[in-house]
Amino acid sequence: MTLPTTDTTVLYPAGALGSTGVVLHREELPDGRAAILLDVTAAHPVDAAWPDQPADRGTLTSGDAPDSPVALLDAVVAASDGSALFLGSDSPVKKGTEGWAFLVAHVVDGQSSLREGDTVTVAIDPEYRRALSAGHTACHLASLALNRTLADAWRKEVTTDAAGAPNFDALAIESSTIIPDGSIDVYRIGKSLRKRGFDPASLDDLEAIAARVDGTLEAWVATDAAASVESPHPVLTGRRAWVCDLPDGRVSIPCGGTHIGALDAFDAISVSFERDDADGAITVTMRTTSTPR
Ligand SMILES: [Zn+2]
Repeated sequence: MTLPTTDTTVLYPAGALGSTGVVLHREELPDGRAAILLDVTAAHPVDAAWPDQPADRGTLTSGDAPDSPVALLDAVVAASDGSALFLGSDSPVKKGTEGWAFLVAHVVDGQSSLREGDTVTVAIDPEYRRALSAGHTACHLASLALNRTLADAWRKEVTTDAAGAPNFDALAIESSTIIPDGSIDVYRIGKSLRKRGFDPASLDDLEAIAARVDGTLEAWVATDAAASVESPHPVLTGRRAWVCDLPDGRVSIPCGGTHIGALDAFDAISVSFERDDADGAITVTMRTTSTPR
């Protein structure tokens, strides 16, 4: 068995829905499934370090594998030091650690006949990808609109977001989950955020906040602004950014996910909030819903 020593080349940042590559390694997993490592792939893997966007769905097809097409059961970021393969949260190192290769592990049924050396075509489920890309773009826009709405809630200077507003989203985020045509962001407002100057009373009227966020989103969607993923190094660990030309200027946010190409893909984006108070902290959940045009 030979494990790849260079990162997987990834085509999903540019929006690819298909790729053709070679099986560099097949590894049997303890649960009876198998991990297929390709030199190049269109499949977006879930990253255990920040699992916001789920794995793509799709198939792997090879002329050498009579049971093709093989269903892609999962796609996860994996790490290898050349001697062993670690999937997802089993990885002992952070993505980008020197001396390690970071790979897209395509998880398939262990009965599949795909093997090392096979040439494999990856086909991504286009509707599921579109819906996740739309949800991810909507998520970024909603967080920027929320930051802008809460700009007056800060009594001290804090780090700002890509549009210049105090970055509530980055400072309070607990988890972010991209879903088809939407996202769920959970924010926690505890002692440390108050110390940084955030006034929790600014969250008293969440309906009014939702109305203001929706107003900003409506104005942004109406511009049909172009959006894209900048991906100068098309490998799994390459630095990537989501870029969008909003009315007040271009915003750029580091992001490893997939996105739609322009805001004209949306009919509307709107948010709703839920609040939970426990143990002296406020938890606010923002649900973002996007409607395709
Ligand atoms: Zn993102």
